[in-house]
Amino acid sequence: MRLLVVGGGIAGLAAAWEAIARPGTEVVLVEADDRLGGKLHTESVDGFLIEHGPDSFVSYRPAAAQLAREVRLGDELIGTSGSRQVYLRSGDKLRPIPAGMGMVLPTRLLPFATTGILSVGAKLRAGLDLMLPRQLGTDDVAIGAFLRRRLGGGIVTGFADPMVGGIYGASVDELSLDAVLPSLRSDEAAHRSLILASLASGRKARAARRASGTRGPGSPFQTLRGGLGSLVDAVADRLTTAGAEVRTGVSVRSLTPTEGGGAHAELSDGTVVEADAVVLAGGVRSSAELLAEVAPSAAAALADVPLATSNVINLGYRASAFPVPVTTHGWLEAQAAPISGVTVSSAKWAGRAEGDQVLIRAFVPERLGPIATADTDELLATVIAHVGTVLGATGAPFLTRLTRWTSVMPKYTVGHLDRIATAEAALAELPSWRIAGSALRGVGVPDCIADGRRQAAAALDAATTPTSQATPARETAAGVRVDS
Ligand SMILES: Cc1cc2nc3c(=O)[nH]c(=O)nc-3n(C[C@H](O)[C@H](O)[C@H](O)COP(=O)(O)OP(=O)(O)OC[C@H]3O[C@@H](n4cnc5c(N)ncnc54)[C@H](O)[C@@H]3O)c2cc1C
Repeated sequence: MRLLVVGGGIAGLAAAWEAIARPGTEVVLVEADDRLGGKLHTESVDGFLIEHGPDSFVSYRPAAAQLAREVRLGDELIGTSGSRQVYLRSGDKLRPIPAGMGMVLPTRLLPFATTGILSVGAKLRAGLDLMLPRQLGTDDVAIGAFLRRRLGGGIVTGFADPMVGGIYGASVDELSLDAVLPSLRSDEAAHRSLILASLASGRKARAARRASGTRGPGSPFQTLRGGLGSLVDAVADRLTTAGAEVRTGVSVRSLTPTEGGGAHAELSDGTVVEADAVVLAGGVRSSAELLAEVAPSAAAALADVPLATSNVINLGYRASAFPVPVTTHGWLEAQAAPISGVTVSSAKWAGRAEGDQVLIRAFVPERLGPIATADTDELLATVIAHVGTVLGATGAPFLTRLTRWTSVMPKYTVGHLDRIATAEAALAELPSWRIAGSALRGVGVPDCIADGRRQAAAALDAATTPTSQATPARETAAGVRVDS
């Protein structure tokens, strides 16, 4: 049994890892770039450990920590350092995120009622949620529109957009409620008021903590001492040791179904791979291209997933550039600014900078307008000036790194779940062909790992069941199925 994995990002690596553990399974992983990891990219330079893409993952989704343990990096898992001081910047001030604040709603009333992030009018408008009847029908809606109806615009600009929009690189006015925050739908269904639902869940969590004697919620974020690139390296090493063929600098050009339901792949170097099962983990554009002939409806649905652009700017300073030590973990902008937020990597994580250095990571997503596509000099100068003003820097960074992630961040806009269901249904006739990765069922690193593993298992299971031995039906370019 041979599995072909298209793409060596974290979803593809996880798929390969899942497959190689199965006795009698051969794995061929093909990565177009010279470097494995895709968006996971760690660089060690001048005493800094720089993350060009993700820098951490949430611990309440266990797939990432579990994979780290499986590749013997369990001892390298670390939590955040120091006290977890994170701010929202509004009215030109850094204001602590109110205690008990979730992504959108408060789980404690007093800190929310007294925060300076919302005006009195915005708080009163949010309180209307306690009285309003249910607003949702059965259709998917934008998170922003739903929140505006229940709680008013203050919650959207003050909390939801900076906190949720930051993760998805998009405004909550375009993000899908059902794909991104489905709990809001069930909360409204069960409690009518979102605030009452959130306060009830906060009370429940506090009671559970009291009963178990555990302390208040710590940071949910974890990473690896050597950066997320160390996970990529460890998985790749273990894959190779286990006999997987890991090929970099070569891309899969085309995929054709074989008689038994497997895949015949042609690669950019002219070589061919014959596989019994395939996981397409190269992103939506890549998967759409590879499926265009075989499953045009799936390809069209994938091509409809919009992709956002974002920029990550790492700035390395001498500690002496700041009049007071920079101990905050960072802030999110809840007002007009040329960045969406900042992580102070050297304060948040151990080992990101030497003792007399400060490492800062700023984000410029396309939703901020032309600054996101400005030339490098202008972009860096604007970000350095803004960060320097907020932190009162008296000196300039001595190291700068700009990473442009151009049209590669999938946006889960309204109707996302329907698009994915369409793609899956259109591929149902080829059960040992599976699509994995951030564009489908979750953008976080743990989501991608879990998805890669699940899709590899499903593809191999399908390839070993008798039904997949039948000659597959194919779709013509017009979307009509024919038996080949
Ligand atoms: C700036 C940024 C910050 C982020 N921060 C976080 C964070 O802190 N925490 C978190 O959990 N998530 C974060 N994310 C999200 C997370 O990093 C991504 O969702 C995840 O890494 C995507 O993994 P993937 O394997 O699906 O895709 P990718 O990483 O995009 O990998 C796809 C790979 O497939 C290859 N490929 C494409 N086509 C072909 C082909 N035809 N043949 C061969 N190879 C091909 C590509 O070269 C690429 O390497 C962040 C994302 C970005 C961009």
